[in-house]
Amino acid sequence: MVERPRHPKKEIEAIIRTAEASGWRFTKGRKYYKAYCPCGEHLLTVHLTPSNRWYVVHLKYRFARSSCWDGRTR
Ligand SMILES: [Zn+2]
Repeated sequence: MVERPRHPKKEIEAIIRTAEASGWRFTKGRKYYKAYCPCGEHLLTVHLTPSNRWYVVHLKYRFARSSCWDGRTR
């Protein structure tokens, strides 16, 4: 697996790591990561510079709503 650059916000980095433990893969773009679900059907984006403090909460919900996310880990 290709080395992934750390997300600058540690709360979001934690979400990414939890997702990776569930089989998601992340690639880093210029302003956001692309998150690829292990099933190949779900694609989410993770911004590098979230514009508001609720972004982390909303990001968790977005992952939680996708069927392949293991919500019990966090
Ligand atoms: Zn999926």
